[in-house]
Amino acid sequence: MSTPFLPVTEQPVAVVTGGARGIGLAIAQWFLDRGHRVALWDIDAQTLARTERELALPDRVLAVPCDVSQPEAVQAATDRVVAAFGRIDALVNNAGVAVFKPVGQTSWADWRTVLSTNLDGAFLCTQAVAPVMQQGGRGGAVVNIASISGLRASTLRVAYGTSKAALIHLTKQHATELGTVGIRVNAVAPGPVETEMAKLVHSVAIRSDYHDVIPLERYGTTEEIANVVGFLCSDAASYVNGQVIAADGGFDAAGVGLP
Ligand code: NAD
Repeated sequence: MSTPFLPVTEQPVAVVTGGARGIGLAIAQWFLDRGHRVALWDIDAQTLARTERELALPDRVLAVPCDVSQPEAVQAATDRVVAAFGRIDALVNNAGVAVFKPVGQTSWADWRTVLSTNLDGAFLCTQAVAPVMQQGGRGGAVVNIASISGLRASTLRVAYGTSKAALIHLTKQHATELGTVGIRVNAVAPGPVETEMAKLVHSVAIRSDYHDVIPLERYGTTEEIANVVGFLCSDAASYVNGQVIAADGGFDAAGVGLP
């Protein structure tokens, strides 16, 4: 999928949700470095506008303010990408929020915010984008950004971990059905990555726990996650469908649980 010399209208198109910053922005950069056009969908219109300015590629970057938990907004964002770029080849469901609280302190509003963004968002975006991929006749690739919290349970993550475990199962459901029309759907489960989200929810105690249970003894970088996502979207992964790849420094393999 390295296509820097194609005319602009023939360049593949990737949609990255939550693409204004963090892991999503690194994923967008991966695609841009390989000559793709990229649509960034994000609820944070201000950060999105700044990122769009900084990328400074008006022909190849489309920034669309969008709350992925709202069906009408997702359909409108999909229509904008089709109108501007004419096709969609890859969708990365990366938009996410985290609330780390004990069970008794996780409010209904916390639960709904986390589930509606992390799970409903991926459901809605895939449902809106898949027909565009199908109509193009080229098929496509969807990657859902899950988490090690969706692979293994731990304290404080009742909403977040449940949303990511459900997202992993959604990946398999979508892979099973959409695979028949040439759309591959996979998930990446990152370990801890230093982003604004990590600043918000990773306390000193949590950081120390991660250090103890990750064989590589460090956080991942946004680029290390983007490389795995890019691989899954590329033709190099053309027979990979319905899989979850943990990019976690060996946490899942080591099997040492978080408290
Ligand atoms: P981040 O908070 O830096 O970025 C998330 C982006 O999603 C933000 O730009 C935010 O505005 C956007 N967003 C939030 N709600 C949205 C909505 N309803 N609609 C559209 N956009 C929305 O976080 P990050 O660390 O870059 O996280 C990216 C993804 O990676 C998330 O799904 C997260 O759960 C996952 N993840 C992160 C880590 C980590 O340690 N940072 C670990 C595992 C998985």
